[in-house]
Amino acid sequence: MYNPKSHKAEEFINHEEVLASLNYAEENKNNLELIDKILEKAKLAKGLTHREAAVLLACEIEEKNKEIFALAEKIKKDYYGNRIVLFAPLYLSNYCVNGCVYCPYHAKNKHIPRKKLTQEEIRKEVIALQDMGHKRLAIEAGEDPVNNPIEYILESIKTIYSIKHKNGAIRRVNVNIAATTVENYKKLHDAGIGTYILFQETYNKESYEQLHPTGPKHNYAYHTEAMDRAMQGGIDDVGLGVLFGLESYKYEFSALLMHAEHLEAAFGVGPHTISVPRIKKADDIDPDAFDNGIDDEIFAKIAACIRIAVPYTGMIISTRESEKCRERLLHLGVSQISGGSKTSVGGYFEPMPEKDESAQFDVSDRRTLDEVIKWLMELGFLPSFCTACYGSGRTGDRFMEICKEQQIHNFCHPNAIMTLKEYLEDYAQPETKAVGEKLIAAEVKTLENSKIKQTVDENLIKIHNGERDFKF
Ligand code: SAM
Repeated sequence: MYNPKSHKAEEFINHEEVLASLNYAEENKNNLELIDKILEKAKLAKGLTHREAAVLLACEIEEKNKEIFALAEKIKKDYYGNRIVLFAPLYLSNYCVNGCVYCPYHAKNKHIPRKKLTQEEIRKEVIALQDMGHKRLAIEAGEDPVNNPIEYILESIKTIYSIKHKNGAIRRVNVNIAATTVENYKKLHDAGIGTYILFQETYNKESYEQLHPTGPKHNYAYHTEAMDRAMQGGIDDVGLGVLFGLESYKYEFSALLMHAEHLEAAFGVGPHTISVPRIKKADDIDPDAFDNGIDDEIFAKIAACIRIAVPYTGMIISTRESEKCRERLLHLGVSQISGGSKTSVGGYFEPMPEKDESAQFDVSDRRTLDEVIKWLMELGFLPSFCTACYGSGRTGDRFMEICKEQQIHNFCHPNAIMTLKEYLEDYAQPETKAVGEKLIAAEVKTLENSKIKQTVDENLIKIHNGERDFKF
C-alpha cells in the first residue's frame, strides 16, 4: 500500500500509485479547468504533488505548455536569481562488481582498462582541478568492496580536503558511490561530505532488476531505501536522480517526485538536488539499445515540471549534454552544472585522447571550465563557486527553510559575486576576466542591503589584494 512515511521502498515508491498517477495524468491531459487550477497553485511556488505535476507533464494543450515553461523560468529566477553553481566530477576508481547493463564499468566488460587512483594520483588530480578553478567536486566510484572499500573513499576525501595548492582549495566534496549501510553513511558524514548523491537509475522494480542482473545493486529495496539510511546516518543533503532512457519517462517522473515527498514526509527535508542524466554512448554501451530515449523537447519539459514541482530543490545537469541543451535547461530550472569534466579515472592530470576507452560515458560539452564560465556570463548568468552553506552549517532542513522563505538570495548572491572574483583573480583568461569584472560591477549594484553591499565592496578589494574565502 502507498505510504509516503514508510521506510519500505515498495510502500513509498508504490507501483500502483505510480500507475494511478499516470492514469490520472492521461485522463486529464486536456482538462483545461484542472490544468489551470494546478497552474494557479504552482504560481505560489510552494510545489506540487506528484499527481498534479504528472498532469502538467502530460498536458497536450500548446497554450498551457507555454505557460508551464514560462512559469518554470519565473520560479527559477525568483528562487535562484541568475546564479549557477559549478562543480566537477572526480572519478576515483572504475572497478565494479555490478552488472548494470547501461554502464561500461559493468563487471563483465573485460576490455576497459580498470584503474583505481592512489592517494598520490588523487593529489595530482585535485591540483589539476584546483588549477582550473574548481572548489566543489563530486567523487565517483564503481561498487567494489575489495578495491573500493569505504576506507578507501574516506581516505580519498581526507586527501582531497587537505590539498591547498596556490590559492586553490576544494571546499565541498559531494559523494556519488553505491548504496551502503547506515554505519558507512555515518562515516561519510563525519568525513565532512557535502551531498550524498545516488541515482535511482529506474524506479520501476521489474525493469530495475533486469537492468541490474547481478551484483549487490540488483537489490531494488536496498538501493531505493539508501537515502533513508543516509539520513539516519546524519547526512541531511541527499541528491536524487534517474537515468532517463531506461524506462518510461512519465513513470520515472512521478516516482522521482514520490521519492522527494517521502523524504519530506519521513525526515522533514526534501532532496537537496535532483540530477537529470540521459543515457549516453560508452564503451560496450549503445544507447539505441534502450527503448525509452527522450528527445530534447521532452527533456526540457521534464526539467520545467521538476522546477515547478519542487522549487527549492537544486537541479543538476552534467556535461553529458550539449552546450545548446544545457543553455535551454539553465533557463528552465537547472541551478548547478559541471564544467571541464573528465569522466575517466585520472583524466585531469593526464588528459586522455578524445576517444578514451576508460571514460564512463561520452561527454557532449567538451569546453574548458573557463570557456563555460565566459559563456555563462555572456548569457547573463552569474557563475558561483560558493560552498558557504555547507561550511556554515546551512544544510538539510535549515537550508530548506531559508530557501523556502526566499532568504537564500541574501547569502548566495554576495557569495557568488565574491567566489567569482576569486576565480577571475586566480584562474580566468584575460577575456573572461574582462567580462567577469563588468558583471561583478553590475551585480554589486543590485545588492539591496546596504550593509551587505559595503562588506562585499570591501571584500572584493581584499580578494584583489590576495585574501581568500570570504562568505556570508
Ligand atoms: N557506482 C555508483 C552507483 O552504483 O550508484 C555511482 C557512480 S556512477 C560512476 C554514476 C552514474 O553514472 C550512475 O548512477 C549512472 O546513472 C550513470 N551512468 C552509468 N552509465 C551511463 C551511461 N552509459 N550514460 C550516462 N550515464 C551513465
